[in-house]
Amino acid sequence: MDTKHLGINSKLIHAGHKADATGSVNTPIYQTSTFAFRNAAHGAALFAGEEDGFIYTRIGNPTIRALEDSVAELENGCGGIATSSGMGAICTVYLALLEAGAHMVSTASVYGPSRGLMEKDFARFGVQSMYVDTSDVTQVEKALRPNTKLLYVETPSNPTMQVTDIDQVSAIAHAHGCLVVVDNTFASPYLQQPLELGADVVLHSVTKFINGHADVVGGIIVAKETDIYKRLRKAMVNSGCNMDPHQAFLVLRGLKTLGIRVERAQRSAMEIARWLEKQPEVSAVRYIGLESHPQHELAKRQMKGFGSMISFELEGGLEGGRLLMNQVRVATLAVSLGGVETLIEHPASMTHASISPEDRHLAGFSDGLVRYSVGIEDVEDLIADLRQALDAASAESPQRTRNSDTSTMVEEPTLV
Ligand SMILES: *Cc1c(COP(=O)(O)O)cnc(C)c1O
Repeated sequence: MDTKHLGINSKLIHAGHKADATGSVNTPIYQTSTFAFRNAAHGAALFAGEEDGFIYTRIGNPTIRALEDSVAELENGCGGIATSSGMGAICTVYLALLEAGAHMVSTASVYGPSRGLMEKDFARFGVQSMYVDTSDVTQVEKALRPNTKLLYVETPSNPTMQVTDIDQVSAIAHAHGCLVVVDNTFASPYLQQPLELGADVVLHSVTKFINGHADVVGGIIVAKETDIYKRLRKAMVNSGCNMDPHQAFLVLRGLKTLGIRVERAQRSAMEIARWLEKQPEVSAVRYIGLESHPQHELAKRQMKGFGSMISFELEGGLEGGRLLMNQVRVATLAVSLGGVETLIEHPASMTHASISPEDRHLAGFSDGLVRYSVGIEDVEDLIADLRQALDAASAESPQRTRNSDTSTMVEEPTLV
């Protein structure tokens, strides 16, 4: 079905699906490693790219293709490349678009392993990188060098929730002759379409919102133009970062409900963020839907909604966060995000532990920051859960006890 003219929720249900001979309503799992050629000439034509078809599952597979076509259409790109994981997508992007001597400028508060892979591994192959606050355009301008080939942006960023103006930084990067890649995981294609705003490539950890059920790890890349799409596909095929058909089937199932999941979770997130702002134990709330967020107006322009990721800090700093995480009952203490279940985690000791304390500080978050991914449970239950956890944490807090019996308590230093 041609779905180009349809609205996003219709696209989520129908884009990418091709009817097969059985009339199957859903794309089946083509659980095969290889595909028979009709004859020698057919095999040769497929390898030469003169005919469209399937050769071998690492190169392409109908179930994986359905997912690639669907997300490519949601992102308004020319083609999608599904990968084994979000990191598989990021590795493919670095491999395809950088080389020894090239320089990359990136958002400082990116997903930890995106930075680790660049600074610990690609650096060994002679790729240079620099990490700046891309929500500040002047920092991006200053960081660009003659050999900068890639501007790598994550927005909203992880876990600081900073928002980068994709349109503005793309114009600067393009004037400099460098490509722009956006990690769109936190927004999902339902809320933000970076290719429409000027980026050349968009990628996702589909593990998060796109699949949405915490039962698959996967990634996807979408390119705006064919020549970049071909370079990316070649890097994925040669490095073996491919998705598998069963993964693709599950992600296709999750994707259909992306719209209703995001709508519900972001409604709850707004309510929870407003509630958190009023709690005496909470010293700061970072949610892009709040007027107090420094890039709230930009997010309103650039995105179709504010999503369901909240970061907050407690008066009790690191210890307060640890106590809270041990007391939640409805939310689950686990990394990852964007699923139907609410998750809570501590970036400094978990997702961002591989980044040095100095770099975490420079990236703009303290060791006391807690990340909260709002799911689709009843919002009243989530708020009651946080309230009881804050109470239980205060009762256990050694600071509270010390406060009450002596005036010489030493404040725990917090990095902000
Ligand atoms: C989780 C995540 C990744 C990595 O994805 P995996 O599927 O875990 O490999 C990359 N970027 C962001 C923003 C993420 O949240």
